[in-house]
Amino acid sequence: MGLSVAYHLAEQGVRNVIVVDKTYLCGGASGRNGGGVRAQWSSETNVTLMQESIRMCRAFARRMKINVWFRQGGYLFLARTEEMRKRLEASVALQHGCGVRTEMLTPAAAAKIVPELDTTQLVAASYNPDDGVVFPWPFVWGFANAAEKHGVKVLPFHEVIALRTQGANIDSVVVRHGDRELSIATSRVVNAAGAWSPAIARLVGVELPNKPHRHEICSSEPLKPWLRPLVADLADGLYFSQSTRGELVGGIGQSYVPPGLNQESSFAFLGKYARSRARTCPSLGAVKILRQWAGCYDLTPDANPIFGPVTGVNDFYQVSGFMGHGFMMAPIIGKRLADHLAHGTDEPLFERWRLSRFAEGKLLSEGMILG
Ligand SMILES: Cc1cc2nc3c(=O)[nH]c(=O)nc-3n(C[C@H](O)[C@H](O)[C@H](O)COP(=O)(O)OP(=O)(O)OC[C@H]3O[C@@H](n4cnc5c(N)ncnc54)[C@H](O)[C@@H]3O)c2cc1C
Repeated sequence: MGLSVAYHLAEQGVRNVIVVDKTYLCGGASGRNGGGVRAQWSSETNVTLMQESIRMCRAFARRMKINVWFRQGGYLFLARTEEMRKRLEASVALQHGCGVRTEMLTPAAAAKIVPELDTTQLVAASYNPDDGVVFPWPFVWGFANAAEKHGVKVLPFHEVIALRTQGANIDSVVVRHGDRELSIATSRVVNAAGAWSPAIARLVGVELPNKPHRHEICSSEPLKPWLRPLVADLADGLYFSQSTRGELVGGIGQSYVPPGLNQESSFAFLGKYARSRARTCPSLGAVKILRQWAGCYDLTPDANPIFGPVTGVNDFYQVSGFMGHGFMMAPIIGKRLADHLAHGTDEPLFERWRLSRFAEGKLLSEGMILG
């Protein structure tokens, strides 16, 4: 998110943009995710944002001069109950209204796309051929390199430890680099620290309700290419796709994950994931897992983001709470925030995703969240 904002600012001619990260550039969730990119959502906001983000993903390699292995094999959502079928149907109707090519499928039609599916317990599926998957690391590096070419300073291993203020105005950011402390003079700060955002906001007395929750993921031994779409099961949040190297990369929702900045892997996850994947495609029961890792979802009370300025501190912008879909949204969200910062463009998302909605009790909903 931070790199996308910086790149889009610099591309529009804004100078003196600095990105600081307390660790290496892929150290946060952006270097640990599944790379899934989809327009299959249940709110018009998310569908239309993702239509634009998918267009940006398609142009990314050419524009940033880096291969991000973007493959549009679609997302195949599976429904195992009538309630889930209805949920998919409502989302598909909304997506059609936005011009997305999603189709409702019978289990037999879903098996034409993935013949290895066990369809005996499926009720329906939905499929959008334009959804896809990118490889996250070059995506992050692409934003960083292109931002630097436009004059942005990207400083990994620079940890924000204080925000100095004069009244309601920020006047500098203090960062620690090794055993040195540096002060960066600025009156405008974008807090894009993902699961760590509440700690940054607290430096100026702003309380964000986001909580970090571990989300685990793993990768299998390589198989010959056989799977085009990312398969997602609404029953338990299982998802998996095949990488260009042949590995199956996937994860699953876990019923209770205590809040905390925990990026450790667990054996319990592997068992749950393996059982669910074998239920979905029985022939995958014998496929070996080679690696597992974890990152933090950055979760707000209504699983929708916090975006825009906050009351009490001038020019302090929040871009957080994107849970399991912040990677796919980073291209368009970074551009929208940069447009506002560079040109004062009116941004309606600031109202929808305002921090104060939690205190007002005006929570949002989104029915197509995975994990
Ligand atoms: C396992 C997993 C799978 C996922 N799958 C998907 C998916 O398929 N599709 C999708 O769209 N999303 C997915 N997500 C969610 C997605 O990864 C995140 O929403 C997105 O990467 C968030 O980006 P970000 O820039 O806000 O945060 P991050 O990428 O976490 O970046 C925040 C950065 O802030 C830095 N930071 C923290 N504290 C400080 C400090 N004091 N000073 C300076 N820097 C600091 C951190 O080092 C970090 O690099 C997944 C997440 C996980 C964990």
